[in-house]
Amino acid sequence: MQALIAGGGVAGSAVACLLGPGSLLIERERAAHDKICGEFVSHEAQSYLARLGIDPLALGAARIDTVRLVHGDRVAQAALPFQGLGLSRRALDEALLAHAEQAGAVLLRGHAVRSVSPGELEVEGHGRLSAPAVFLATGKHDLRGMRRQPTQEPEDLIGLKMYFALNTAQQAELAGHVEVLLFRGGYAGLQLIEGGVANLCLLVNRTQFKAAGSAWPGVRQHLEQACPHLAGRLRGATELLNRPLTIFRVPYGYVHTSGPTDWPGLYRLGDQMGVIPSFCGDGISIALHSAFAAVRAYRDAGTTAYHQRMRHDLMGQIGRAGWLYRAGRAQPGLAVLAARAWPGALRWIARLTRVPPWALADT
Ligand SMILES: Cc1cc2nc3c(=O)[nH]c(=O)nc-3n(C[C@H](O)[C@H](O)[C@H](O)COP(=O)(O)OP(=O)(O)OC[C@H]3O[C@@H](n4cnc5c(N)ncnc54)[C@H](O)[C@@H]3O)c2cc1C
Repeated sequence: MQALIAGGGVAGSAVACLLGPGSLLIERERAAHDKICGEFVSHEAQSYLARLGIDPLALGAARIDTVRLVHGDRVAQAALPFQGLGLSRRALDEALLAHAEQAGAVLLRGHAVRSVSPGELEVEGHGRLSAPAVFLATGKHDLRGMRRQPTQEPEDLIGLKMYFALNTAQQAELAGHVEVLLFRGGYAGLQLIEGGVANLCLLVNRTQFKAAGSAWPGVRQHLEQACPHLAGRLRGATELLNRPLTIFRVPYGYVHTSGPTDWPGLYRLGDQMGVIPSFCGDGISIALHSAFAAVRAYRDAGTTAYHQRMRHDLMGQIGRAGWLYRAGRAQPGLAVLAARAWPGALRWIARLTRVPPWALADT
């Protein structure tokens, strides 16, 4: 094998699609599954997917043209500066993996990478595998041997996701919109995905999570009390998962700096390269952007140039997103009032928190 790819999410499977024969992708999950994600697919992500031959609309994605910012029962609304889509990660990630296999990559599913060392991966059930290039795409959390530098953002947020079946009127009110709901201790995103299913994905801090009994019913009750708008959206709605998906300790604000855990031939992708606050809905774009840039660097400039380039591409975007996150968290009511007074602000924020056009132009 010429290349080993650890992780078969968006970033890893995009690399496998681009490299094709000679690449081996190792994914710890055996089969298609739900993932914690708001499932907002931004315009740039759609462009990269088109380059890979994937059409989210053909997979049933819902169109999203408008953003609503909500605090309590106050709502500010603005047209997005681009068309977004709502598509489940179950569908998107499976489509990418299928494309990778068609392109000639070998997939090893149901086996976890245990540790990483220069030129090698230790893989559950397969021992040590080696190759000149290793693409690290295992997502938010650290792998043994690859601990990341700590981030500035407090890692106190707990992520939860639940799918809902809404009634026809509720579905019609949500169609075409992504709703960002600000509440004490966190924020949530609500939007439709394929099949008219509503995805509620939220982040809540530990204090508020504990105050809500550290369990989903209490969290849902807290949200609905804090946000009558959301209570209306979910009245009578059926929960479609037995229990919510959860995630802890997401290293928001992380951008990789080259250091002692790097070696020539190692490429960090997606969330292993940089983690943007979730409200931006741009992590999928960053993952795809990193995949295209890494494969290009693998063919010419090499690892050091790749990591320097990605840091340059992402620092501004992730920094601005962190600043906006802190501002919204400190003054949620004011954020909605400001967005109502100046609807252009939401469009401006949507633009500022994308992978910059000059970076996209160079992949
Ligand atoms: C709450 C929340 C909401 C979000 N909402 C959005 C949104 O609406 N839109 C958006 O664009 N982004 C969103 N994001 C960000 C987005 O989900 C990530 O940035 C994106 O998935 C990163 O892609 P990735 O390929 O790097 O990692 P992932 O998509 O996480 O993929 C990593 C893969 O590696 C596998 N893996 C992990 N460890 C191992 C191992 N040891 N061995 C083998 N395989 C392994 C996992 O099973 C997984 O398949 C959100 C994130 C969170 C936390």
